[in-house]
Amino acid sequence: MSTDNGTDESVVVEHDVALAPRTTFRVGGTADFFCAVRDEQELVAAVRYALVRDLPITILGGGSNVLVRDEGVRGLVIAMALRGRSFHEGRSGAIEVRARAGEVWDELVSDAVQRGFWGIENLSGVPGLVGATPIQNVGAYGAEVGSRIVSVEAFDIERMSARVFRPEECAFGYRDSFFKSAAGKRFIITAVTYRLSEVGAPDLSYRDTSEYFMERRIEPTLSAVREAVLTIRRAKFPDVDRVGTAGSFFKNPVISRARYDKLTRAYPSMPAHASGAGFVKVPAGWLIEHVAKMRGVREGAVGSSEHHALAIVNHGGARASDILAFAARIEDAVYRATGISFEPEVQVI
Ligand code: NAP
Repeated sequence: MSTDNGTDESVVVEHDVALAPRTTFRVGGTADFFCAVRDEQELVAAVRYALVRDLPITILGGGSNVLVRDEGVRGLVIAMALRGRSFHEGRSGAIEVRARAGEVWDELVSDAVQRGFWGIENLSGVPGLVGATPIQNVGAYGAEVGSRIVSVEAFDIERMSARVFRPEECAFGYRDSFFKSAAGKRFIITAVTYRLSEVGAPDLSYRDTSEYFMERRIEPTLSAVREAVLTIRRAKFPDVDRVGTAGSFFKNPVISRARYDKLTRAYPSMPAHASGAGFVKVPAGWLIEHVAKMRGVREGAVGSSEHHALAIVNHGGARASDILAFAARIEDAVYRATGISFEPEVQVI
């Protein structure tokens, strides 16, 4: 590994930096060029460094939703390290929190809950950084971050200037947004502002959360809802601090109701949840477990989690190619039996 200061003011760019330790899957090759940016000046300097050398730019957040290929990443990888958050009263009088992109998402949720602010408690325990949340419109247990976003601040690589997006410009969809599209790739998210509420009601619309409170017969206060979600997630999802994984590997597929009705002839217990007029969402984890029969399966160093078939796990020493091959086998098994194609939720870089 070598270090140089590039031609630009103040950013330290390293060469051939291992990315595996910076991702929760803990696999993959090196970045040709790598730097961490802690303020806007460093971000601008990093972008300039890449532009003058004609290097493609890849942004790395918490590394919890990426799989780095064994060949590594060409160009400059910029690790997002802009920190800081502040609570304030928004224009509408509601409480808002502005968090910079490198803030740890769950620390923000914990802070909001401790202050008594509702709105993002169902998103407790989601790994990763704030800057990644609008990109895939992170959602869990009936809540979606997009519905709480007031604005997204970004740096436009083409124009070398800052831009603020209103929610309607973000095109939030199911685990999707403008920032995932080809046109959105030129923006680096630098901060996000979320709207919270001092008065709120628990959203227990998912079976896991409603059962938690029914079984324990406790009141679903704000902090109790956070505790419930953390407890449910701990029991189901592998702990990314201990196990090599990026959580859910695939998105839950959305198919037409007519197609679903046909499939239930072969799979009468296939669950489904309404997802817009004429469409249903089928849990990918159920398909992997019951159709592909690949829950808790291990092939060498790779496998699917025993607790949640949707999580692919690196048991130690796996290569990215092993993980991709295992994922392809799952996809293939589900597709051959049902005709349903999976889309990866994990970003392969
Ligand atoms: P789960 O609660 O077992 O649910 C499985 C599937 O059923 C998901 O597709 C979920 O939709 C859907 N579902 C369950 N109850 C529903 C209801 N009452 N109304 C509508 N849809 C319902 O899911 P899980 O795999 O254990 O994950 C827990 C939560 O974390 C889920 O909400 C999941 O989507 C979320 N998660 C999000 C991300 C991410 O944002 N990147 C990653 C991992 C897990 P939804 O997917 O729409 O919730």
